[in-house]
Amino acid sequence: MGQTKIEWTELTWNPVVGCTKVSPGCAHCYAERMAARLHGMARKRPDRTDRVRNYLPVINDRGRWSNVVLPVEEALADPESWRAPRLVFVNSMSDLFHEDVPPDFIARVFRVMNEHPQHRFQVLTKRADKLAELARDLTWTANIWMGVSVETAEYISRIDLLRSTPARVRFLSLEPLLGPLPCLNLDGIHWAIVGGESGPWGAVNCGELGM
Ligand code: SF4
Repeated sequence: MGQTKIEWTELTWNPVVGCTKVSPGCAHCYAERMAARLHGMARKRPDRTDRVRNYLPVINDRGRWSNVVLPVEEALADPESWRAPRLVFVNSMSDLFHEDVPPDFIARVFRVMNEHPQHRFQVLTKRADKLAELARDLTWTANIWMGVSVETAEYISRIDLLRSTPARVRFLSLEPLLGPLPCLNLDGIHWAIVGGESGPWGAVNCGELGM
């Protein structure tokens, strides 16, 4: 498990690492920056046997996602080791519904969550199409909170796809919010996180958006 500064969770759990940018909200991807740091640590110490080594293949020589996505088998046992009930952000370093994550592996991640009802798992994706496609084959215990990211009005359809899932708790991450979202339909949505863009790479601020 990973300690985190993210305000809306307690810890992160990464059964998959690595990703591909899919929409404007990915431009200044925090996970990519974190992964590049871990990749650098792994390159300095090639003898490392801990999970830092998993970041070698997922980052390229320019410090960007290499588009390799890596399921991390050993991480599936992590929730068993957490003694106290936890609020857990699943895949802060990837997207569980990335097109290259095999459906069988996604089902195994869900089974782990099903088998640990004492923990609440927050799964967040930008790949709402794949989520909707697989949702019927997954078991949605009450401890699984499912969310989609929406950064501009162009991606509002992700919310309809989220609504089509049987998740008991559905949430939105409107972060980084890159444009107005007028008349947002929040039917069937239980929680929303809102935030601007941050980071050292020329983040957009609200003034630029006229907000
Ligand atoms: S989907 Fe998430 S983890 Fe993947 S590139 Fe976009 S912001 Fe980063």
